[in-house]
Amino acid sequence: MEQLSARVLNLSPSRTIAMNQRARKLRESGIDVIDLTVGEPDFPTPEVVREAAKLAIDEGNNFYTPVAGYNDLREAISRKLRRENGLDYPASRVMASAGAKHCLCNALLALVDPGDEVIVPAPHWVSYTELAKLAGGVPVSLPTLASDGYKLLPAALDAAITPRTKALVLCSPSNPTGSVYSAEELAALAAVLERHPRVWVVSDEVYEHIDYTSRPHASLASTLSLRDRTVLVNGVSKAYAMTGWRIGYLAGPEALVKACIDLQGQMTTNASSIAQRAAFAALESGTTLIGGMKEAFRRRRSLVMAGASALPGLALLEPEGAFYVFPDVSSYFGSSLEGRSIGSSDDLAEFLLDEARVAVVPGSAFGDDDCLRISFATADEKLAAALERMGEALRKLG
Ligand code: PMP
Ligand code: GLU
Repeated sequence: MEQLSARVLNLSPSRTIAMNQRARKLRESGIDVIDLTVGEPDFPTPEVVREAAKLAIDEGNNFYTPVAGYNDLREAISRKLRRENGLDYPASRVMASAGAKHCLCNALLALVDPGDEVIVPAPHWVSYTELAKLAGGVPVSLPTLASDGYKLLPAALDAAITPRTKALVLCSPSNPTGSVYSAEELAALAAVLERHPRVWVVSDEVYEHIDYTSRPHASLASTLSLRDRTVLVNGVSKAYAMTGWRIGYLAGPEALVKACIDLQGQMTTNASSIAQRAAFAALESGTTLIGGMKEAFRRRRSLVMAGASALPGLALLEPEGAFYVFPDVSSYFGSSLEGRSIGSSDDLAEFLLDEARVAVVPGSAFGDDDCLRISFATADEKLAAALERMGEALRKLG
């Protein structure tokens, strides 16, 4: 007897996580799969952060913490936003949650009523549309073009806003496309939003520090006219190699943050006390721990760009940020090998898993079926081997 809610029946599982777990299972069963699915740094968490967590255990941080996070962590987030972003959020207007994903969930639950539209420029990260649906909203996937660097243009935003629009979710640097909005591009989007005072901005900045441009990080949260309707989301997962620790944070207007605290107080109480202590150490260290990892990502980006450009039939842009390349593979649609035909990004991802033993995520997961997402947050040797195997497999398709 099926008794599950329409809410969950309507929900698609996270396909990045699903592909990653599939690759993990194959590896555990002894099959040599190179996993380029999930976007998580392969480095160990920096030592000062690990030491802070060990100390936190020994010092008896075994109790519930304040719902919004330890006060000193909130102060550290507030200092980080001032120091690195020039943004003035007192600690009362920030909160820590179990990862940036949980912050996005809190924010969308706090903002979206049934039927409200949430604009999500596509290609988009897998969870935005599903979290908007979970909140009862209607995700409006707004396609962007490779020829525009996969960036949302002001006219397209303007045309997509309706009386039901409640929020725009913007991710820069972007997962999966790697595009990074400049301050000027954001100002042009802000000018549109100024004409629509009911529309909120959810600004996902988790890849802030994985940015290969020479421009300073730009955020819609810096636009004064939008400050009272912008929620900034960030976290320590990507910058400090802390994906499993599960700490993210949001900053926004007082009433929104209070609503998120009320939600969190009913749902999880607080993010892990030990992980909060670790995140405090990471944020207080500033950007000194990040430089080496970023340089490794930059090197891997060159490696993957060189390797993927040499593969037949792929069209790709060099990512300006994050750690993914997102090639257009549609030239393979219609090709086949021994009766197996390729008609979609899912088909090609399956083919590469079987034939090359390389796991990637089909673009359909991100709202663009012409592409594949290849994560380069993995060791250079593995990347080189994966590209070679992909080349061999793709050359068999005719
Ligand atoms: N936003 C984007 C665009 C992401 O790629 C991720 C990675 N999973 C997240 C948010 C969530 O990060 P976390 O929950 O690990 O902080
Ligand atoms: N952000 C990463 C990715 O896109 C982690 C997995 C997830 O949370 O979706 O692969």
